[in-house]
Amino acid sequence: MTATIGLIGGMAWDSSAEYYRLLNTGSRRRLGGHRTVRSLLLTEDFAEIEALQRAGDWDRASELLAADARTLQDAGADLVLLCTNTMHRVAGAIEAALDVPFVHLIDATAEAAAEAGTATVGLLGSRFTMEMDFYRDRMLRHGVNVLVPDEPGRTTVDDVIYRELTQGIVTDASRRAYAGVIAGLAERGAEAVVLGCTEITLLIGPDDSPLPVLDSTRIHVERALDMALDMALGPAKAPA
Ligand code: GLU
Repeated sequence: MTATIGLIGGMAWDSSAEYYRLLNTGSRRRLGGHRTVRSLLLTEDFAEIEALQRAGDWDRASELLAADARTLQDAGADLVLLCTNTMHRVAGAIEAALDVPFVHLIDATAEAAAEAGTATVGLLGSRFTMEMDFYRDRMLRHGVNVLVPDEPGRTTVDDVIYRELTQGIVTDASRRAYAGVIAGLAERGAEAVVLGCTEITLLIGPDDSPLPVLDSTRIHVERALDMALDMALGPAKAPA
């Protein structure tokens, strides 16, 4: 039996479905046959979370998500992921509520950037992610500098997230608009772009971007699989 990965999802569920798919295709790739890393998915009501974001009520949001993390732990999760970049604004409260490890998305993404030898990344995400300090500061801890788009690029990126991607809408026009914003970041010195919203992976792949992509969703899933398999099988990660 493998360790059990707990997912706090629903923000929005479009990316949670992608987490679930990547987790299971990653399990198959690593373990083969019918073997699957065990997982539990808790789906939040994104309308409620988004209203708290807009109201700036991060305390209430952190209470809700900390309670979700405890629910997953009590249900048997051996490690917990929060499937959104933006809500890592309250990662500290979630981590404090858990006895099992919390797999921090920003740390995993920053480490992937540092491993690739990238000193400066461009960051696409929600307005909260791009404009508040929490993301930039956490990346800097790993020695990675962050550039965010100028206006009107930030508005474009945020509008596409909340009006389209979190409502199941993926368009070529938005893909082209994102490519334009990434090109602007490249001109200002970014060496790679962090897809710092878990739905952007549904819009932009490596072929759509003028810069190498650091896809936070994929990086987060792979880190969780590494940890789950280390817990269950020891460092060699060899299937039994
Ligand atoms: N999934 C997005 C993110 O990674 C945005 C949704 C949210 O606000 O949580 O930031």
